[in-house]
Amino acid sequence: MHKNFKNIDKVVFGRGSFSEMDSILAEKRSENNHFFLFVVDSYFSGKELASRIPAKPEDVVRFIDVDPHEPTTDQIDNLRDEILASKGLPSGVIGIGGGSIMDIAKAISLMFTNEGSSTLYQGLNLIKKPGIYHLGVPTISGTGAEVSMTAVLTGPVKKLGLKCDWTVFNQVILDPELIASVPVDKWLYTGMDTYIHCIESENGTLNNAYSHAYAEQALKLCREIYLDDKSGQTPENDEKLMVASMMGGLSLTYSEVGVCHALSYGLSKILGEKHCYANCLAFQHLEDYYGEGVAELKKMLKTHNVELPQDLSKTWTDEQITAMAEVAYNLPHMWNHAIGTDWKEKVTIETIMELYKRM
Ligand code: NAD
Ligand code: ZN
Repeated sequence: MHKNFKNIDKVVFGRGSFSEMDSILAEKRSENNHFFLFVVDSYFSGKELASRIPAKPEDVVRFIDVDPHEPTTDQIDNLRDEILASKGLPSGVIGIGGGSIMDIAKAISLMFTNEGSSTLYQGLNLIKKPGIYHLGVPTISGTGAEVSMTAVLTGPVKKLGLKCDWTVFNQVILDPELIASVPVDKWLYTGMDTYIHCIESENGTLNNAYSHAYAEQALKLCREIYLDDKSGQTPENDEKLMVASMMGGLSLTYSEVGVCHALSYGLSKILGEKHCYANCLAFQHLEDYYGEGVAELKKMLKTHNVELPQDLSKTWTDEQITAMAEVAYNLPHMWNHAIGTDWKEKVTIETIMELYKRM
């Protein structure tokens, strides 16, 4: 079966492009109840960027703390209910922040027009109606959430995205100036998410010329940023990373992620670990699956003096390890891609538990 994917409608890229937002939004202001909802990472509260948000008096600007938990279904439902009750349907929603805020903006855009709890729509093509206009402004690069067709939410039962064509942003503003303030460890972990997206996209049955072209370019950029250039977060590297993040996301969209992401979902769901960090924790032990990639990732971390903790599994209970393995096992599309359609003959819950015990 051929995948038929929707891309972002419009993208503006370049230093200072954040300033384009006011004119971009102008033509949308007449829609619905003539106000915008801005969801902004609380890191920016009181910072210079907050004063540059082109909000009018009728708009709602909501600063959201994305630490320590990833976005939840409750969080989306409550915010949607509150805004609809107090002001009605917005003209659009603008997300300014990292993957967490990108997902919140995408999810709430859909939930403004789809009734009931967002838990009803976790999965592929369960959303019934298009959402409202939504614009994403990433401020940390790597997850590819700015380009993906999913809005990952943690609910009472599952950590799973609202995934459909309407999830994809109508507009994205890629301004590399905005990622300059990211601390070095997060710069590494989120960048490694891009790297892992590409390695996993490339190493599996769904890899194809289209996904390969994006992965190849994104990997080249990752190597330039994290290996060749030792100077770290320079303006030039910020530009490259923003583009790599998007291309990594496009690569996996047209292919699939693999073993590392399956394990990472278990770490996030059961232990609450953040996506990119969880990926790094898992990937360092996946030599059997991605030998060269693992060696290269370790080299990148070393180059920037970031060390990953070891022997974590000693602090985990058997129940936690079993629960994580079950979460990972229940992502058949990832195993299918990474191992092949006969993956169940090669990978069992016990195999996966052993992988967690390496961590
Ligand atoms: P994040 O949004 O969770 O933010 C990580 C940290 O960086 C936070 O502390 C935040 O305040 C801080 N931060 C963000 N921008 C900053 C800046 N410019 N300067 C200083 N600090 C800054 O980070 P993330 O890793 O991009 O996103 C993780 C989330 O993305 C998870 O919830 C995960 O489930 C989701 N995700 C989604 C997709 C998708 O396709 N939708 C893909 C991968 C991950
Ligand atoms: Zn990822």
